[in-house]
This record gives sequence, C-alpha cells and structure tokens, in this order.
Amino acid sequence: MIFLKRIEAYGFKSFAESTVLNFDYAMTGIVGPNGSGKSNINDAIMWALGEQSSKSLRGDSMEDIVFSGSSDRKWLNMAEVTLVFDNSKRAFSSLEFNEVSITRKYFKTTKESEYYINGARVRLKDVQDVALETGLTKSSLAIISQGSISNFVESSPEQRRKLFDEAAGVARYKKRKDEALRKLIRSQENLDRLNDIINEIERKLPSLKRQSKKAIEFQQKFDELKSIEVAILVKDIQLYKTKIEELNESKVDLKTKISSIERTIQAKSHEFNQISSSGFAHDKELTDLNKEYTKVVDELAQLKVDKISLEGQKSKAEVDDKEFRVSELKGKARELEIKLDAEEQKLSKLLADKGERKKQLDQYSHERYEINTKLDGIRKELAKIESNLEVLASKKHSYEGLFEGVKTVLENRSVLPGIIGTVQELVQVNEDHKVAVATALQNAFQNIVAKTAMDVKKAIDFLKTNKAGSATFLPLDTIKPNFIPNEMRFAIQKSAGFIGFGNEVVKIDKKYQTVLDFLLATNVIVKTYEEALEIAKLTNYRYHIITLEGERIAPYGAITGGSKKNRNNLFSESNKIKELENKKVQLDSEETKLVAEVSSISEQIELYREASSEIQSAIGASKQASDQIERELKEVKAEFQILTGKELDGEEQSFKSIDEQIIAVIKQISAKETTKEEIDQKMNVLRSLKEGSSEKVTKLNLSISEDRRMAQALKDEYGKLNTNAVLLTEKQRSASERLVQNYNLTFEAANQLEQANVDNEQETRERINILRNEIKALGNVNVEAIAEYEEENERYQNYVTQSGDVVAAIKNLKTVITDMDVEMVEQFKKIIKDVNQALPNTFATLFSGGTASIIYTNPDDILNSGIDIKISPPGKKISNLNLLSGGEKSMVALSVLFSILKVKPIPLVILDEVEAPLDIANVERFAKYLKSFTKETQFMIVTHRMGTMENCDILFGATMQQKGVTKLVQVKLIEAKKMTNAN
Ligand code: ATP
Repeated sequence: MIFLKRIEAYGFKSFAESTVLNFDYAMTGIVGPNGSGKSNINDAIMWALGEQSSKSLRGDSMEDIVFSGSSDRKWLNMAEVTLVFDNSKRAFSSLEFNEVSITRKYFKTTKESEYYINGARVRLKDVQDVALETGLTKSSLAIISQGSISNFVESSPEQRRKLFDEAAGVARYKKRKDEALRKLIRSQENLDRLNDIINEIERKLPSLKRQSKKAIEFQQKFDELKSIEVAILVKDIQLYKTKIEELNESKVDLKTKISSIERTIQAKSHEFNQISSSGFAHDKELTDLNKEYTKVVDELAQLKVDKISLEGQKSKAEVDDKEFRVSELKGKARELEIKLDAEEQKLSKLLADKGERKKQLDQYSHERYEINTKLDGIRKELAKIESNLEVLASKKHSYEGLFEGVKTVLENRSVLPGIIGTVQELVQVNEDHKVAVATALQNAFQNIVAKTAMDVKKAIDFLKTNKAGSATFLPLDTIKPNFIPNEMRFAIQKSAGFIGFGNEVVKIDKKYQTVLDFLLATNVIVKTYEEALEIAKLTNYRYHIITLEGERIAPYGAITGGSKKNRNNLFSESNKIKELENKKVQLDSEETKLVAEVSSISEQIELYREASSEIQSAIGASKQASDQIERELKEVKAEFQILTGKELDGEEQSFKSIDEQIIAVIKQISAKETTKEEIDQKMNVLRSLKEGSSEKVTKLNLSISEDRRMAQALKDEYGKLNTNAVLLTEKQRSASERLVQNYNLTFEAANQLEQANVDNEQETRERINILRNEIKALGNVNVEAIAEYEEENERYQNYVTQSGDVVAAIKNLKTVITDMDVEMVEQFKKIIKDVNQALPNTFATLFSGGTASIIYTNPDDILNSGIDIKISPPGKKISNLNLLSGGEKSMVALSVLFSILKVKPIPLVILDEVEAPLDIANVERFAKYLKSFTKETQFMIVTHRMGTMENCDILFGATMQQKGVTKLVQVKLIEAKKMTNAN
C-alpha cells in the first residue's frame, strides 16, 4: 500500500535545493553514507506534521531546521516541507479528499510557522488532529529509530505503555482527555471566580435593593409632586400676574387722581395766599380812607359851622320876618339847586363808572375763562404724562423688549450665579452720543455680562433645559479687549471731527471696563460723514468709524446709514421717561403761573363786582336824594309864591353878599358831601371785599382740608395697593423661584407643559403638603441606586446563570471524561488482548521458536498500568530483559511491533536503521517479515543493510555531491551497496 505519495522539501535542514521524493512502492529503502541527510527525511515528515520540539528534530531551536548554509551556499531564510498522502481509504477520516497535502513553512525572521492542508491555511492544531487520526506522530509506531527500538526493551513499563496507547488509538483520547481536564480546571476556576463575584454581589444587593426601593418611592412621589405643584405654581403665577397688572392699573389711576387733587390743593393754597396778601393791602387802604373820611367829616363840620354863623349874621340884618323868610327861602332854594346839581353830576359819573366797570368785568371774566380752559388742558396733559410715566417705570422692571433668552436669564438672576446684567443696564451714554453709540453697539446692547465662563455655561444649560431661546454672554474672565495700536490712536485723535473712542465715550463702572474695551475699543466716533471717510481712509479701513448721525463705516469699507426707526429705540424707554419728566416740569410751572393769573383776575373781578354793586346802590341813593331835593325845592318855591306872590326864578335870585357867602359855603359843603360819599363808597367796597374774603378764606380752608383728607385717603389706598402689589410680586417671585429651584423650569417653560388636572385646588394643595412631608421623611435618597440596583441585579442574574452553565459544563466534562476513561480501558484491553494473541507467533517466527506475552504491571488500574513483556526465547530462560543482547532486544521489540502491525495496521511506518544490530540471517528474516505487511502498511526504511535493501521495492540514495546539500536519487541495488558498503 502506498500512503505517503510524495515529499517536497526546500530549505529544510540539508535540503538546500528544492527536493521531491516520490513514493511509488510500498517498501522504499533510503541509503547513503553517514551524514548524507537520510534521517533528515524523517525529520521533514515529523516537522511537517507539526512537531514542536526542536530536540526531537535534533536541534537546539526551531531556527536550526532551516538550511544554515555550506561552504559554497548561502544560508536560507525559510524552510518548507509538503507531504502528499493518498486518502482514498480515508486514513484522514475527517478529510473528504482522495489526496491530502500537508505543508509547513517556517520563517527565520518572524520565527513563525504557517500550516496548510490542501493549500488552505490552517492552525497547528488542525494538522496535529489529522496526524493523530492516522497515528502518524513521533511517539507512535510510525517513525521508529534504532534508538527507540533498543529503548523499547530497556524502558520502564510505563514508558513502554505509550506504544500500546498509540496502537489502541488511546493517545487521541488522552489528548482529548487532557484537553477536557484542562477545561475542567478552567471551568472550576471560572466557577470559583463566579461564586466569588456572586457572593460579593449578594452582600451588596440587599442594601442596594432597599436604597433603590426608597429611591423609586421618592421618584414616584417627586413626579407626582412635580406634576401637581408645577400646575399649581403656574396657576398661582398666572393669578399673581393678572392681579399685579390690575393693581398696577389701579395704582396708575389713583396716582393720577392724587396728583390732580394735590394740584387743586396747590391752586387753592395759592388763592388763599393771594387773598391773605390782598387782605393786608385792603386793610391799609381802609385805614387811609378812614383817615381821609375823618378829615372830610371834620371839614364838613367846619363848613356847617361857617354856614350857621353866616346865617346868624344874616338874621341879625333881616329884621322883618317876612323879608327874613323870603330871603331864607331864596337861600334855601339856591342851596337845594346846588345840591340837586351836585347830585345830578354824581349820578351821571356813577352811571359812567358803572358802564366802565361792566366792560372791565366782562373782559376779566373772558380772560379768566380762557385761562381756565388752558389750565384744564394742561391738567389733562399732566394726568396723561403721569400715568405714562407710571407705565414706563413699571415696564422698565419687566424687561420688555428684550430677546427671549436675555429676558429669561435676567428674570432668573437669583438662581443663576455670576450674572451681572445687560450691557444696556450697565452703560451710561451722553445724550449727544446716543445715536452713535446705539449704532456702534447694535445688538450687543443685550449682551449679558457674566463673571466667569463657568457661570455662562450654567446659564446656557438653563436656557437649553427650558428651551428659552439664546443669549450672547460676555464672561469677564475670558473676553479680551482689542485695542487700536497707540500710534494709530494718536493719528486718529489729531484728525478733524474726532470725538472719541467708543470705549471712552461711553461710561461704565470701573469693574466692567473690559466689557467696553472688548465691544467698543475699535469704534471711533466722529462728527460728520466726510470726516468719517477721512479717518476711515487714514486707518486703512481697519476700524469702525461712526458719525453722530449714526452712519457707520465698517472694517474693509462697507458703509451703513440712512434713517433707522428703532436706532434710538435702545434708549427710547429712558429717553421717553426723561422727555416726559421734562415736559411735566414745564407744564407744572405753566400751571402754577396760570393759577396765579386766574386768582389775581378773580380778585379783580371780585373787586369790580363789589364796586359795581356799591355804585348801583349809590345810584339808587343819589336818585332818591335828587327826588327829595326836588320836592323840597318845590315846597320852598310854593311858600315863596305865597309870601311874595311872585315866582322864585332867576330875577328873584339876586342875593346880598352874605347870601353869596352862604351859597359858596353850601357849594363847598355839597362838594365835601360828595367826596365823603365817594370815600364811604370805596370803604364799603373794601369792607364788603374783606367780608367776602374772610368768608372765602374760611371756605378755602375747609375745602383745602377736605381735599387733603381725600388725597390722604387716596394715598392710603395707594399704599395699600402698593403693599398688595409688593406682596403679590414677592409671592410671584417665590413661586417662580420654586419652579426654577425645584424643577429647573422657568414660568414660560412650565406654562408650555401639559398641566396636571387640579379640579379641587384645596385638595391638591393639601396633597402637595402631604407629598412634601413624605419626601422629607424619606431623608437622604440615592436616586442612582435605582439604576445601580437594576444593573447589579442584572449582573447577579447573569452571573448566576453563568455559574449554572459552568456547573452544567463541569458535569458534562466529568461525564465525558468518565466515558472516555471507559472507552480507553476498553480499547486498551482489546489491543493488549489482540497483541497477546499475535505475539507468540511473531516472536516464534523471528526467534525461530520460543514464546512471548505482554502483561499489565497493575491490572487493577488498566488506565495507568505499565506494560511488561515476558519472553521465552527457544531454549533460554529470561529473568531480566536487560540481560538480552542488543540484537535480541531489537528482535523482541520488532516482534512486538510486528504483532501490533498485525492487529492494528497503520498506513505508514518509517524505520530508521532499526535492524542495524541484527545479524545477516535475522536481517533477512526481518526484511521478509516486513514485506508481509506491505499490503496494509507502507514502509520507508533508512538502512545500511544489504538484506533489507534487497527486499525493498525501490532504493533512493542520499548524496552530498555538493557539499552540505543533500540530493536524493533512485539507485540500483548495486549502487546502493557501493554507497553504503553494506553487508
Ligand atoms: P547516518 O547514516 O550517520 O545516520 P544520515 O545520512 O542519517 O547519517 P542525517 O542525520 O540525515 O545523516 O544528516 C545529517 C546531516 O545534515 C549533517 O551533515 C548536517 O550537517 C546536515 N544538516 C543538519 N541540519 C542542517 C541545516 N540546518 N543546514 C544544513 N545542513 C544541515
């Protein structure tokens, strides 16, 4: 039989050249001188089948198997051997090929081997496994050297057993058993490790479970609390907001009312003062008039005395009664005429006066009406301004008009550390520069200054969680100012129209100067557009140049300008407040002026009215007086006629000088009377004015105190509203803060959420309290414990499962091992039995008689028992095998080998000079006997012996024609004999 069809070697030991050895016969002899490389063929076979021991390959290290060079040949870097087998009988039972090639390559540089089966790269183990299937391994019967033949007899029963193990195929089991045992140990170690871990987890688990349970309870309560508390807080905040708004509206209302009353009080006080001061003037005037009056009365009295004395003088001269009476009547008539005349003059003056006064009064009334109308307008405007101011002031605190993100950050300043405020809040800008600065800053107005970049991160996270927009932040610890270089600054400063650098024109608290240096240091503010262009050119269009009107030349020359509606908007709020305040001051002073005017006109009107009524009564009195005088005159004239029979007229009116004198006095008296009346009239006006004033003052006083009371009441109400508003604002703030602190939610974000149902508010609030207390009672909670417990528990379950698997695997391995042991014992027993049957015959054939058997050294433990040989060569009694000769020892070994081959044929046996110690007759017997096995077994025999060579089917000679390089050639027997000098 031919099993190994071909060996191809290159670079292996002395096979420096590519060498191919074909085996076409069952019994091949390899011949050649010592050191020619014959045994290297065996080595090549062993090596290709996966031999790992360099010692077995007769070297120190694996590198030694690569051709190491000779005197004429360079060393090689790699070795390669391929064995080609006939597998038509499936000696390699696991390989479904009729031909199997096994290749091993070795590279000196990497010190790595590569294995191939039929050209496909495989692992070493795969090669070793298939080799085992055929029994082609080093310890097997397959490769037997001279040393191992003699060792067989000399070695211990335990070592000897190995041969039978191989024959029984137990080696394969042993290998698998070893593997199973290794696996078992590994599994046991694994199990120990798993048990350690399981114990460890079991120790932790109960506490974790408790913590996790507590955390779950906390989580559930917290979730419920969150859902209802957020709903309640949102509801509360909404309510607070509405109420605060209402309160603010009412406050504005009240404020307007209060200031209107206060203005009235002011006007009334003014009137009061005016009246008081005119009262003093009137008093003085009255005193003066009084003096004048007394003087006139005195003069009048004197005149009357004069008149009486003149009349006395006249009565002395007039002796006749009738004459005297006539003269008296004449005088009386004259006096009455004078009086009447005076009275008429007075009346006409009074009437003229009355007309004049009426005209004046109308004019004053009209003027007063006009002023009052104006005052009304001013007051309405003032009320409007005041309410606007209130609204603006409240707006200023509500961050209206800011970007959403900016607003959110500012509103939640109390929970966001390090937030300082917007640029807009921090800067002060001169009125003249507002437009330019607004242009320069643009949206940076709403940049938020913060202490550190860490603070900014917190604020950004807050905005993200609440989906509340974005904002630009200026962290003081990271922003870097960007200054214009000094020489350039000097040049700019000297340019026409230069006003200032943005960071210097705008003012800010020293602590935050970096903010301005960062935002505005490269902004130059200039008067006019033309000057801006010049400076832009000068700076090579590198900086922002901005005019007072708001035109802007950006770096690289882009220019923005025109009219921007909102450019001033950035300041509009505070601008508007200022504007309104200015207007208010102006209107206030105008109002005061007009109030004064009104009250002075009113006083005039009062004066004129009093005077008019006084004139009116004077007119009445004068008319009455005239009637009286006329009646008296008539009576006088009638008496005169009775006495004289003449009419008293012009002719009769001639008077004596005394009469003339009397008439003159009468005229004076009449004039004085008029003067007296006039003074009296004036005094009356003043007196009644005074009376009116005091009445008015009393009324004013009353009305002022009433107004004050009302104002106070309104102020009290305002105070109450304000307290309520403050209280509600505080409540709103604390509710908002609770939202942020407990749930990290802004009101807006919370409002967006789906709200829990809170039909019964009272119950919900009670539930909140209960939940809060319950959560508090839970104490410290480790929320991580939930995940930790789950993770640990999962791990625990995993490990328990794994440990179960390992236990099952261990059980399985143990069963496998036991099964293998049973199988091995069976097979081993069988081979021993079979060999024992074949051995006597084989032995007798080789020894020409005698008998032999093999026995267990320990029949009780067949698995581990050694094997002993008992022999009885013909005619000899052997007590100790060591006493046998070298040839006998070989014969014993060969008879055992042949017995094994008989009962357990193996496809290839390589014999390396095993028959060397035999004598010629025995060599012949040996060779012949060998030949009887060639049906089942292929032999490769390295030999120096003629008897063997003669029995071989073919002979190959190993030569070293080239020094150090083995060459194999087929040789004839005769050549072989020559090559080996065989006998
Ligand atoms: P003998 O009949 O004495 O047993 P042999 O023909 O069996 O001899 P081998 O043992 O096969 O001889 O070959 C040994 C030869 O192989 C030696 O000459 C040795 O120098 C050569 N050799 C061994 N390894 C290498 C190697 N790596 N490179 C080159 N030559 C080597």
